Amino acid sequence: GTAQIGVTGLAVMGRNLARNLARHGFRVALHNRTNARTESLMHEHGDEGDFVPSESLTDFVASLAKPRAIIIMVKAGSATDAVIEELVPLLDEGDIVIDCGNAHFADTRRREHDLAERGLHFVGAGVSGGEEGALNGPSIMPGGSDEAYQKLGPIFESIAADVDGTPCCVHVGPDGAGHFVKMVHNGIEYADMQLIAEAYDLLRSGLDATPAEIADIFRDWNSGDLESFLIEITADVLAHIDAETGKPFLDVVRDQAEQKGTGRWTVQSALDLGVPITGIAEATFALSLSGHADQRKAAAKTFGDDGKAGTLGSDRDQFIEDVRKALYASKVVAYAQGFDQIRAGSDEYGWNIDRGAMATIWRGGCIIRARFLNRIVEAYDADPDLSSLLVAPYFAGAVSNGVNSWRRVVVAAAQAGIPTPAFSSSLAYFDGLRRTRLPAALIQGLRDNFGAHTYQRVDKEGSFHTMWGADKSEVPA
Ligand code: NDP
Repeated sequence: GTAQIGVTGLAVMGRNLARNLARHGFRVALHNRTNARTESLMHEHGDEGDFVPSESLTDFVASLAKPRAIIIMVKAGSATDAVIEELVPLLDEGDIVIDCGNAHFADTRRREHDLAERGLHFVGAGVSGGEEGALNGPSIMPGGSDEAYQKLGPIFESIAADVDGTPCCVHVGPDGAGHFVKMVHNGIEYADMQLIAEAYDLLRSGLDATPAEIADIFRDWNSGDLESFLIEITADVLAHIDAETGKPFLDVVRDQAEQKGTGRWTVQSALDLGVPITGIAEATFALSLSGHADQRKAAAKTFGDDGKAGTLGSDRDQFIEDVRKALYASKVVAYAQGFDQIRAGSDEYGWNIDRGAMATIWRGGCIIRARFLNRIVEAYDADPDLSSLLVAPYFAGAVSNGVNSWRRVVVAAAQAGIPTPAFSSSLAYFDGLRRTRLPAALIQGLRDNFGAHTYQRVDKEGSFHTMWGADKSEVPA
């Protein structure tokens, strides 16, 4: 065969990725379980580039030049395993199988291990940017071996988004590293959206501002430090009017969301790794809360909705500026926590992930693209071992500058009964992190008292236990 790369799985993502590859001059082999999808791609976009469609997987594999590079873009989970099972017997040593779906990094580690034993490369690549990104330039986070990246790198880097001449694609690290980083990226996306939603709620409920007015506020924010794709589309969504009712679009949308997939995985992994990602966790739980319609109805009936509309506007401009600063500071916390999780995962699995490079490839193509990421790149350039993004000079300055606003907003929200779980927990995290003495000492004492869990002392090495039930003397553990 002569095709340089193949794509199997031609729903929205696979189809657009295949078109992106073809538009960049690659000869692309095409396959989909149901051939109608392949036919429709050829019918609608066959003239965009050099496609080699096949109806059977065998013909598809045969149409590829060796060593083969095959992208799987099917529904994540068991479908991916089914495709791999069918594909592997048709492949030769040295071929590269690439899963661009949203796989869990543990599945990617397992698949990489299995395929390596069969002499095949397996690359789990996170792809962000939705269907638009897949077509016009996504952010790509490939894991897998160095050898596989040597072949794939030039292909992926040419189809990825580009910011100031730098492609939004880099080899993240071995086996599941790419899917792990994509997972954290999605967690950060959840936190970003929750923070935006809380800012909106504060302005809407606290100031009695209309969605159209809030759209203007977000548009204004988008010309400063907060400039980002999500802030930009927030203004669009807020300004949108429902055609059927003439009401703000937001007011006709049901306020119930579900949390699934990668957001949940991010929190589960953080618990395993012992990394406090409170911003992402609160964002995930806030979605869960919204979806519990019966409980919400019962509680609203019992307690009433106490949101005191319009009570926070005694100095309207000051309040808007406070919310902006609180949003920015909370966002810094969410990213600091996400990057902590990347470091912890990298240490745990031996991935050696360059955190600055992750911020670099998130600057374009993906949902969390933002001006702010340049500051993260600079922070890791200056100190690759940075203990927390919060202490990098730029972010330390931004948070110190915003902390009074942040406190005013959280206090005002609590008094007005407006829930701000992500704003509040980010502030609590910040205060906890910088505290010289935490009450964890008391918890250590309690655990030693009821369970002889032992404790360490501030003034000498070793572990100790106090004989709580006897004479309360201290013994070495
Ligand atoms: P879907 O997740 O809706 O999956 C549909 C595709 O999977 C079809 O091509 C379907 O084939 C194929 N498929 C399902 N089961 C099997 C099976 N057992 N054997 C073979 N093929 C199977 O498609 P999307 O394009 O939305 O997403 C593809 C991947 O990209 C997913 O992993 C998704 O999580 C990920 N992703 C999606 C994003 C998005 O914005 N949609 C963004 C980033 C990643 P058939 O036509 O025969 O039914």
